[in-house]
Amino acid sequence: MIIKRMAAGVLATIGLAAALVAAAPSATAAAKNGVCESNEFCLYYNSGNAGSLVDLVNSQRDYGTGAGCIEFVSTGSGKGQCVKNNTASVWNRTGGPVFVFYNTDFGGVYDKIPAGAKVDLNANVKNDNASQIVGDAELRFPLNVTQAHVKNQSPKWCWDSKVNCHHDYNAADIFVATGSAVVSPVNGTVKSVNVRSSGVGSTVTVKDSFGRLWYFAHMHHNPAPVVTTGQSVTKGQRIGTIGTSAHAVGTDPHLHLDMRVGVDSRVSCSGSGCAGYGFVNNQPLLRTAFLDRPAS
Ligand SMILES: [Zn+2]
Repeated sequence: MIIKRMAAGVLATIGLAAALVAAAPSATAAAKNGVCESNEFCLYYNSGNAGSLVDLVNSQRDYGTGAGCIEFVSTGSGKGQCVKNNTASVWNRTGGPVFVFYNTDFGGVYDKIPAGAKVDLNANVKNDNASQIVGDAELRFPLNVTQAHVKNQSPKWCWDSKVNCHHDYNAADIFVATGSAVVSPVNGTVKSVNVRSSGVGSTVTVKDSFGRLWYFAHMHHNPAPVVTTGQSVTKGQRIGTIGTSAHAVGTDPHLHLDMRVGVDSRVSCSGSGCAGYGFVNNQPLLRTAFLDRPAS
């Protein structure tokens, strides 16, 4: 009996030690415990970091609604309510930027919250928040051209709008001259490369660490895209070239760019047939990237 008790005691001690080791990495950031700790991004029901809060550590494609939504958990005004479209202020303790978006899947207008900021959300997303990216969500403009170059095109991409302005679904058609370099807007992995001299021209897909799959179409076949499937790419790295095989039938040379989240391949669709597939409005992020380009 004594031996059995000792064995049980030893096992209990080992079990406790294992539990302590397992818990150690997250001890400073126990998500959703109602305390805003180091390494967390915290959402508050009221302005001025008041009212009930919830503390999160990861990106969220959709905060959710109804049963199962992410809700405010600490004692205070708003406790138990869903955070979606209900968040007035935030505290970013993650050590990097966090982006809060108006739409699900990281779409639409957004607020960039710098590391350490303890602020009310901007008017774009205050009480209109649907998703968040923990990390650097910003894009590199996908073409090595100046602002003036894009502004002088006709037809032209509606660079000055925050509203998606593709002709039919959430995507961007950016008109530029033949020979313009197409570059990756994100750090990611090349998922596909197709070289074609007709139709939609050469295409490439790149997936980033937030699950965003970017699709580039209407690129030249000669010179062909300069990346291969499985390869890593970084922001600004060359993908391909706008060329004479690069335009959709009946239009001038342009880059077609669209994005969906949580998929590994671009759905086969075109025009109004792409409605309903969850393509995301990236116009606000693209606009910010565009304004980072040289003026002329
Ligand atoms: Zn297009």
